[in-house]
Amino acid sequence: MTEGVPETMSACVLHGKEDARLEKVPVPKPKDGELLVRVEAALTCGTDLKVFLRGYHERMIKPPAVFGHEFAGKVVVSENERFPKGTRIVAANSAPCRKCYFCKLEKPNLCRDLLFVNGAYAEYILIPARIVDNNCLTIPVDLPGSKAALVEPLACAIKGVEDVAVGRGEKVLVIGAGPLGLMLARLSVLTGAEVTSVDDQPDRIAVARELGVTNMVAERLTPELVNHLRAELTPHKLGFDCVIEAVGKPGTWNQAVELVRPGGRVNLFGGCPRGTELRVDTTRLHYDEISIYASFHHTPQTVRKALEFVANSEIPAFTLVREGRSLFDLPEVLQEMRKGSASPKTAIFPQLPGGVRLSVDELEQFFGDSRELRSR
Ligand SMILES: [Zn+2]
Ligand SMILES: [Zn+2]
Repeated sequence: MTEGVPETMSACVLHGKEDARLEKVPVPKPKDGELLVRVEAALTCGTDLKVFLRGYHERMIKPPAVFGHEFAGKVVVSENERFPKGTRIVAANSAPCRKCYFCKLEKPNLCRDLLFVNGAYAEYILIPARIVDNNCLTIPVDLPGSKAALVEPLACAIKGVEDVAVGRGEKVLVIGAGPLGLMLARLSVLTGAEVTSVDDQPDRIAVARELGVTNMVAERLTPELVNHLRAELTPHKLGFDCVIEAVGKPGTWNQAVELVRPGGRVNLFGGCPRGTELRVDTTRLHYDEISIYASFHHTPQTVRKALEFVANSEIPAFTLVREGRSLFDLPEVLQEMRKGSASPKTAIFPQLPGGVRLSVDELEQFFGDSRELRSR
């Protein structure tokens, strides 16, 4: 059953604060209902950077541990007829229990017993049975794993845009143009909204242009800029129909509330640290009747939609994933992310030799072990 699978593999192991090392570790052994997947591509994510800088994650990662949670790959050990050996899959990083109060309420993102998987920065990853059953999907043969791996964060963004029901012709402001801010902006563009993106980093805003965003503002969101945006970009200077905060700081949460028009919707999408408090003038809530949402995580439904968006290129994955690197260079990539010099997302390939950088054109051609890199 495990023929062809080695005993050990290369993996990036987090040992603590800013201490991630490439090591040989045992290949996990799948039990009933689990899949062993050979990672074709993993993606970097702001959460992974946070985990790297902090050295742990409250709910998910206690060092030493292999981390990384956005990935696609090929099944190498399976007793599941839905995903036989050789199937290329993408899996979300969690699955709900389907039994608790919130699961029964059809709010699976609030499941009290979300089961997480981490360990994508490795040659192989074990997919727990519950994720196999609920949040594992077969990917089209011509879809590179480096695109498919975008499914997890995109599923969160889809939930964010659906929760505030962004509509055609609406004026939407997205604060923050990190990978999630950019996906939220793109999804809003796809619904037919007129989207404004604001971020103080010009290179991030340049990506928003490629995604069909109408107004790009490369400035820090100061009180003056808040007034300026409201005055210049919204009818009767009343504010945006919908504002989505994708930064995760209390200052920008407040600005999001300030920038929405009476009767409008705010999505405080970016998570702040535990214990952070928000003060809101009750006038805004009551007399202005604004609605405040704060979307968390994804659902099996948005995970499925995310794969459709990526497969039909409505979300141009390689506008966000702009470079491919080797697993062996991951510690270096994490340092680049920390300095802000990395692309919005980087595809990490366990099969790529250290020191190689793949361009977007090369990424299109690279399917891990299943296809040669023709352009090289
Ligand atoms: Zn992520
Ligand atoms: Zn549940």
